[in-house]
Amino acid sequence: MHDADRRLAAEREQTLARLASLTGDFDSVVAASLDTNADDEHDPEGATIAFERSQIGALIGQVRHHLAEIDAAAARLDAGTYGVCERCGHPIVEARLEARPVARTCITCASRDRR
Ligand SMILES: [Zn+2]
Repeated sequence: MHDADRRLAAEREQTLARLASLTGDFDSVVAASLDTNADDEHDPEGATIAFERSQIGALIGQVRHHLAEIDAAAARLDAGTYGVCERCGHPIVEARLEARPVARTCITCASRDRR
């Protein structure tokens, strides 16, 4: 089936790289917050660091979710249901799959969901 395999592999690679960089950032923020906690002075940076930590944590959650979507798309590829809308059963247009390889629904159903 067309380029879906290659596209999903590329998407997975990018997503893993993003996750690695976020996890690296996350670790450094956590390390920074441990440093400041070790400091006895009460510091105004504490709140900023906590905020950064929760922001990065949320991003990591999103990236992990996307990774799960890629796995699900790969499973659909194996099952032969990839590129078929989960709602209406119509084929998802190539341009949409190119832009969003993990798409589960066609453009019509997706725009209906957004309302
Ligand atoms: Zn549809």
